[in-house]
Amino acid sequence: MLDADFFRRWMTATAVSVEHEAERLTALDSPIGDADHGSNLERGFRAVTAALEKDGPDTPGAVLTLAGRTLISTVGGASGPLYGTLLRRTGKALGEAAEIDEREFAQALRTGVDAVMQLGGAAPGDKTMIDALLPAVDALGQSFAAARSAAEEGALATTPLQARKGRASYLGERSIGHQDPGATSSAILIAALAETAG
Ligand code: ADP
Ligand code: MG
Ligand code: MG
Repeated sequence: MLDADFFRRWMTATAVSVEHEAERLTALDSPIGDADHGSNLERGFRAVTAALEKDGPDTPGAVLTLAGRTLISTVGGASGPLYGTLLRRTGKALGEAAEIDEREFAQALRTGVDAVMQLGGAAPGDKTMIDALLPAVDALGQSFAAARSAAEEGALATTPLQARKGRASYLGERSIGHQDPGATSSAILIAALAETAG
């Protein structure tokens, strides 16, 4: 079973990984964006860690809802509202249960990913975070490790794609040949989940 502490540890592990990978994420956002993805997420997840320490939410749903709200209010770029919606809607779908099982979590995360697709209008293959998140949610039925591999493969598979959403889409064909920064950070988020699950 997964409790509030598990989700707090997931968010903290994500903050640590994002801090380690911030330069790489910003470098990926340089040729097909505005070179701020790493710093956007670093600021956002630092604020998430601080908010979780301060408020001490005590259910899985409350942890993710607070994390999502914090990202929305601290990250100005496209990724803030999108990741914020992912976590907020996943948290909302979890309700007020003190503990949930893996299956319930997989279902809730799917609700969150659907909300991101609705908000941003991206479909699979548009070269966005969806290309890592959707395969991860599909694989989560098997295991956390499978979700991690699926997200990492999904992120790598964005390289040959032409961007159809977000800033990178302004480049048209010139967006081809670069890995999407948001898909890469989504793989980091899911890798932190798998690490937290052990
Ligand atoms: P900004 O583009 O505003 O500077 P970031 O650099 O933080 O924001 O995030 C860029 C990432 O956000 C992209 O690499 C992409 O994965 C994701 N993204 C952008 N627009 C969308 C969208 N409409 N739907 C899903 N993901 C998106
Ligand atoms: Mg950017
Ligand atoms: Mg920006």
